[in-house]
Amino acid sequence: MSISQSLSGQVVPPLYLRPDIPIEERLNDLMGRMNLEQKIAQMCQYVGLEHMRDAEKNISEEELLHGHARGFYKGLHSEGVERMVKKGEIGSFLHVLDVNEANHLQQLAAQSPLKIPLLIGIDAIHGNGLVRGSTIYPSPITMASSFAPALVQESYRQTAKEMRATGSHWAFSPNIEIARDPRWGRVGETYGEDPYLVTQMGIAAVTGLQGTLWHTSESVLACVKHLVAGGIGNNGTNASPVELGEGELRNVFLEPFKRVIQQAQPYTLMPAHNELNGMPCHVNSWLINDIIRNEYGFEGFVVSDWMDMEAVSTKHRLAEDLKEAFRLGIEAGVDMHMHGPIFMDEVKSLVQEGKITTVRIDSACAKILRAKFKLGLFENPYVDPNTTQDALFTNVHQQTSLEIARKGIVLLHNQSNVLPLTTQKRILVVGPNSNNQAMMGDWVFDQPQDQFTTLLAGIRNQAAGIAVDYVDVGWNLRALDADSIAKAIQLASKADIVIAAVGEDSFRQHWKEKTGGENRDRMDISLWGMQQDLLEGLKSTGTPLVAVLINGRPLATPWIAEQADAAIEAWEPGSHGGRAIAEILFGKVNPSGKLPMSIPRHGGQIPIYYNHKPSQFAHAFIDGPKDPLYPFGHGLSYTNFKYHRIECASHITLQDSLKVAIEVENSGQMDGEDVVQLYIRDDYAKTTRPVKSLCGFQRIALKKGEKKTVYFTLHNEVFHYYDGRGQYTFEPGSFTLMAGGSSAQKDLLHRKLMVSH
Ligand code: BGC
Repeated sequence: MSISQSLSGQVVPPLYLRPDIPIEERLNDLMGRMNLEQKIAQMCQYVGLEHMRDAEKNISEEELLHGHARGFYKGLHSEGVERMVKKGEIGSFLHVLDVNEANHLQQLAAQSPLKIPLLIGIDAIHGNGLVRGSTIYPSPITMASSFAPALVQESYRQTAKEMRATGSHWAFSPNIEIARDPRWGRVGETYGEDPYLVTQMGIAAVTGLQGTLWHTSESVLACVKHLVAGGIGNNGTNASPVELGEGELRNVFLEPFKRVIQQAQPYTLMPAHNELNGMPCHVNSWLINDIIRNEYGFEGFVVSDWMDMEAVSTKHRLAEDLKEAFRLGIEAGVDMHMHGPIFMDEVKSLVQEGKITTVRIDSACAKILRAKFKLGLFENPYVDPNTTQDALFTNVHQQTSLEIARKGIVLLHNQSNVLPLTTQKRILVVGPNSNNQAMMGDWVFDQPQDQFTTLLAGIRNQAAGIAVDYVDVGWNLRALDADSIAKAIQLASKADIVIAAVGEDSFRQHWKEKTGGENRDRMDISLWGMQQDLLEGLKSTGTPLVAVLINGRPLATPWIAEQADAAIEAWEPGSHGGRAIAEILFGKVNPSGKLPMSIPRHGGQIPIYYNHKPSQFAHAFIDGPKDPLYPFGHGLSYTNFKYHRIECASHITLQDSLKVAIEVENSGQMDGEDVVQLYIRDDYAKTTRPVKSLCGFQRIALKKGEKKTVYFTLHNEVFHYYDGRGQYTFEPGSFTLMAGGSSAQKDLLHRKLMVSH
């Protein structure tokens, strides 16, 4: 860019580089200076250099299969990409894993003709886990289990700070899909099965990431994803087709998008890998333009997901070539292409041939540039690398991670109150997940040894005066060590209690072995491999057995429910997960997490979710029960909570807001926290309605013996729904409110009310 001289001879920077000018004027000025190619360049995203170099070295068949390289590196090298940045041909990167690389790329961009800084995105799903040294917060399913949105919001605010300190400005987060199928490996990166809970968590995440003033140097762009319904692929595998009526689509799957967009204004959105009703989401103009933009008021930009524009041609076969696939995607509302070559040339010729308008390119480019202005990148795209280390894994951030884990870990059952541990003198700790990084979850690369607490370390820290034996049976779930299992069984008979950490492994560094996470879908959701043998062997010794489940998805483990003396669903509790679990085992923390997803007894029960239609269980299976092993909202405490009454007006009109009072008492022997859950049912309607739907929750702390009245205010939207044709509907009549500490019918108090126009 040429710096022009004023008449007086002073150097005058162009308008768009002047921070004192309003952003819209700067944007117009810049757009006026850009040619077509420079505008399309803003829509192009490439992979970070280190990431790419890695791939250049060893693109294996395995990686090709799992999509992490699938052809996109062809003919491309990191040096070539650097040259492109310098020429201004790339607007954005993903997965720049190191601050020095981020600065290097920005320096190259600063040498380009228009000096437009780069927007750098990363999968910061629960902390900025792909970057070494970051705080790893519990995975989203664990966050959801905490039913503590304020804490979750804080974790994303801290994540944003850690991201900015390493040069990233944009989190591909939160994943606000509804997870109704535990076969899907990505369940752990969602907030579970309930639209209301997912919405609250989504709002918390977006608000935390973007801040209220997201153009500060501590905020990043959020990205709500994946639009839509990827959690119910028709065979449980990632990206398989989805057929869904408009009522259910809107009431359940689009609901979090609608609310999060309207209440938290995420700046970006990512369509899903899957097709919906015969139309891949990436080319679904009705979804992106009509619903998301026009109906919900989304004003940001849409980024495609990995290889999904290409898939419109190569997989879905809606287009004969990539060029046509790109055209369909852009026409449907995709503004930025993740990632790789070809896009630029094809889009340029599409515009030249009149198949995409310049107006459409201008609108995509302007939205992307607006974000760069708002983030302050034109003023300073660099990070002082000397400040990076101090910003990561701070004491305060660790504390937040620990606190979410403490609240998110769920006590599933506790036979004869074997927990908390009090009198035991010798503990055996065993199991593949007892001393590794599986508790970090997906989207996390290897973290420094001194930056996480495993379960074994956590127990050793808590177990003053108690002997702790440990047997390493190996981490690789696909091949546990049989001799070590035999040794563990021997030691179990000498112990007073056995703590066995089993489950899954979604840790991303463990690419080949991992059994959970993206593209780790399973047809059998029982315990993998020899873990069941291990548990049965331990149990056969007669020593009480506590099973600690560390996994991102619900596992069907009826044996654990029936045979283990206690079971804890720890999900993936993050950097200090081992400490949080140990504190719960020893009663330093009274468990209070609640399941955000129903846990089935058997894979054959899938889909199983609490907010089902009335006829779902009209008939039984002939070979097993129809109810889940543990229902949504379930989670025990070391104390007891009694729900005494639920009260509200018996007749209201739609104009009124409804105040609901629920009285709860801690009737047990210990202080504790519970999550008061409020559900609603539309008793009779013209379209079938769910048997109940969560419409409010509050986490409360009660001292032993304490009683409290908790209040909720409901607004008229809870009495509405979308009918099968997508019409937003209200039908006057009777509704039932239900309140309690879980969604199980036996745990709920009921109250009827009439609602009229
Ligand atoms: C996932 C996205 C992610 C992207 C970039 C895709 O495979 O579906 O959620 O943001 O990869 O890593």
